[in-house]
Amino acid sequence: MFCPECGATDVEMVDGICKNCYLKKFQLMEIPENITVTICKHCNAKLEEGKWKDEYIPEDEIIYRALENNIKLSDLAENEEIELEIDQMRGTIAECYVEAVATVLGEDFVETHTPNVKINYSVCPDCSKRNAGYYEAVIQLRADDRQLKEEEIQKAEEIINRTLNKQYKKDKLAYIPQVARLKEGNDYYIGSLKSAKKVVEHLKDELGGKIKESPRLISEDKSTGKGLYRIWISLRLPKFEIDDFVRYNKKIYQINAIDGKRIQLNDLESQEKLALKWREYDSIEKQNINGIQKAIITAKSPKELQILDPDDYSPIDLEMNDKLNEYNIGEEIDVIKIDGRIFVIW
Ligand SMILES: [Zn+2]
Ligand SMILES: [Zn+2]
Repeated sequence: MFCPECGATDVEMVDGICKNCYLKKFQLMEIPENITVTICKHCNAKLEEGKWKDEYIPEDEIIYRALENNIKLSDLAENEEIELEIDQMRGTIAECYVEAVATVLGEDFVETHTPNVKINYSVCPDCSKRNAGYYEAVIQLRADDRQLKEEEIQKAEEIINRTLNKQYKKDKLAYIPQVARLKEGNDYYIGSLKSAKKVVEHLKDELGGKIKESPRLISEDKSTGKGLYRIWISLRLPKFEIDDFVRYNKKIYQINAIDGKRIQLNDLESQEKLALKWREYDSIEKQNINGIQKAIITAKSPKELQILDPDDYSPIDLEMNDKLNEYNIGEEIDVIKIDGRIFVIW
């Protein structure tokens, strides 16, 4: 065998020529001289085959990935190592250096290229919506039959921000373009309905309350007849708070705890605990009291404890229980009055 290119004989042949001649013509990798990537100037998302993806990746990394994705390495390369460098930026063009080292047919092989990566800046649809103040839902934070308290607003806003920050990783419309502070409560405009629902879920989990959704028709697409809706979601915090007194089923209770699942009550007479689902909410009546009063204990027997009504000093007999038994004659006990009836509180 001899090489038709250089005439060498007795040499290893590849593709009909000697290995030396083959390696001289051999190309280890292919990479275009000019590569273009389109990214969003706000979130760095990359446009690929009509889709925007991979936001918040630093520009250097975008350039390196663009180089990597455009390298085609020969099948003959073994133990390859590829080094990528950005030599310099000229405006929006990155002048790059690519060096590949590999073993080819048992020989060490080095090849270098100097491609340019041009960055095209654009704005992705999510960022343009955001810039335009777009929103899909409004969360209306209210309190039932009373004003919202400042600490409730603070707590709610902490939950709203925490939830949106978490949502933002997968939903770029998890933002608040507008907050309206009104006499009756606050309206939080939210970019996406999906994230608004998550926020309301968390608010209810932690603060309790009742949720109501009402879609509003914003406009109609004349060509398709389809309506564009936005959803108003109201969360009404309960009329009562922890430690308030309420009437339920003719009994008087004190509120122990409130969360998204239930309202926990303490029966003031029997001291028994009760947990109510939110669907019972409307049957719970808040009781307004004139404050806690002190009543003096005037008699004690195994069955009864006698106290004096703090308003008219008439004697009242209370059925003895473990807690009352801890008190002695002459001591004072805290009471409240609801509809003329006295309840001991602890
Ligand atoms: Zn040859
Ligand atoms: Zn964007």
